[in-house]
Amino acid sequence: GYRKGGYHAARPGDRFAGGRFVAQRKIGWGNFSTVWLAYDTLHSRFVALKIQKSARDYAHAALHEIELLSAVAKGDPTNSKCVLRLLDHFKHAGPNGQHVCLVTEFLGDSLLRLIRYNRNKGIGLSRVKEICRSVMVGLDYLHSELGIIHTDLKPENVLLESTINPAKDPVRSGFTPILDRPVGNQYGGTVISFSEKMLKMRARRAVAKISQRRVSLGGVGAELEKERCLDGISLKCKIVDFGNACWADQQHAGEIQTRQYRAPEVIIGSGYSYSADIWSFACIAFELATGDLLFAPMNRQGCSEDEDHLALMMETLGKMPRKIASSGTRSKDYFDRYGDLKRVRRLKFWPLDRVLVERYSFSEPDAKGFADFLRPMLDFAPEDRPSAAQCLKHSWLN
Ligand code: ATP
Ligand code: MG
Ligand code: MG
Repeated sequence: GYRKGGYHAARPGDRFAGGRFVAQRKIGWGNFSTVWLAYDTLHSRFVALKIQKSARDYAHAALHEIELLSAVAKGDPTNSKCVLRLLDHFKHAGPNGQHVCLVTEFLGDSLLRLIRYNRNKGIGLSRVKEICRSVMVGLDYLHSELGIIHTDLKPENVLLESTINPAKDPVRSGFTPILDRPVGNQYGGTVISFSEKMLKMRARRAVAKISQRRVSLGGVGAELEKERCLDGISLKCKIVDFGNACWADQQHAGEIQTRQYRAPEVIIGSGYSYSADIWSFACIAFELATGDLLFAPMNRQGCSEDEDHLALMMETLGKMPRKIASSGTRSKDYFDRYGDLKRVRRLKFWPLDRVLVERYSFSEPDAKGFADFLRPMLDFAPEDRPSAAQCLKHSWLN
């Protein structure tokens, strides 16, 4: 983390870009960055500030993200296509090095939080539809207008639009804004004497807070959490985190996507395209509706996570056609010449619509409608999956 080449240790009140942005509080982090709510004194608005780790590879990744997000912004002047809006970018020199910083619009909770707030029970089909519409508008834009594959679509990377105005609503936003404060030291307000010990203390406190929240999700508190979460938010959402996104004609990584959202063609190594995002999308939609991961592969006795994953897919979606199973660079690792998994013997077939009824107590029509929508996106043949534009026309969404 917070060392040479790593995260930049910021503190509320720190200023960036020659004093223009004032850090308010940390609102997120990932493997590459910390993300802060900041106040833009030039335009009198709140923004999100993504402060990248400083090592060269991270800086390079941030520049790539800026390139893609610039194209996204350029093609969508009215900011209506459900993808994160990049507002600005700059470099910030701190004790751990030079950090590329992205200034973007400030958004709200991620879908992961929405799923967790609802205690893993699903958020109701009408809300699922609303979110699906937004994400599909975003995907259609990325795919058909820009030629971008996101490659890491998952609940953490879809954020709800925030209706909280931190300045007007300090109670709901949970803090008092710092809109002005004198510019600090040579690092633009960064405290350079932050000791490791203090950082560890802060981290421990943060962890304690998180576990407290988990505890408070039980009992009566859960209803309140739910109310608080769903009340006052529009269910419009936006796709974020373009750190792994690529131009469809310039692919690099062989292995893309986060495990549970990974498409079968990525696992068997037969190449991927826009349709890999469609697969991930279907996994997210299922998770929103049920609160559970569609596929939760594990390392089981005598079989790898990949093999378990393929087995789970086939139990829900039927046997993978032999032609497809044998088409990847890694096919021989998993499949025998009959197209059967080598190390997973008995598959317990349990089709999607049956799972929805029998495990999640969906009514028959609800299960049928939802499964009709999802099933084509989970076709083992990537080229047979519907495009985002086709999904948008599906009757379930309209
Ligand atoms: P990863 O490890 O997933 O690649 P990353 O370092 O690239 O992470 P992001 O995924 O872009 O960082 O952001 C990390 C988290 O910060 C998000 O999951 C989200 O919770 C929060 N976040 C990011 N951008 C915004 C924003 N514009 N508004 C509000 N919160 C945000
Ligand atoms: Mg992320
Ligand atoms: Mg990222």
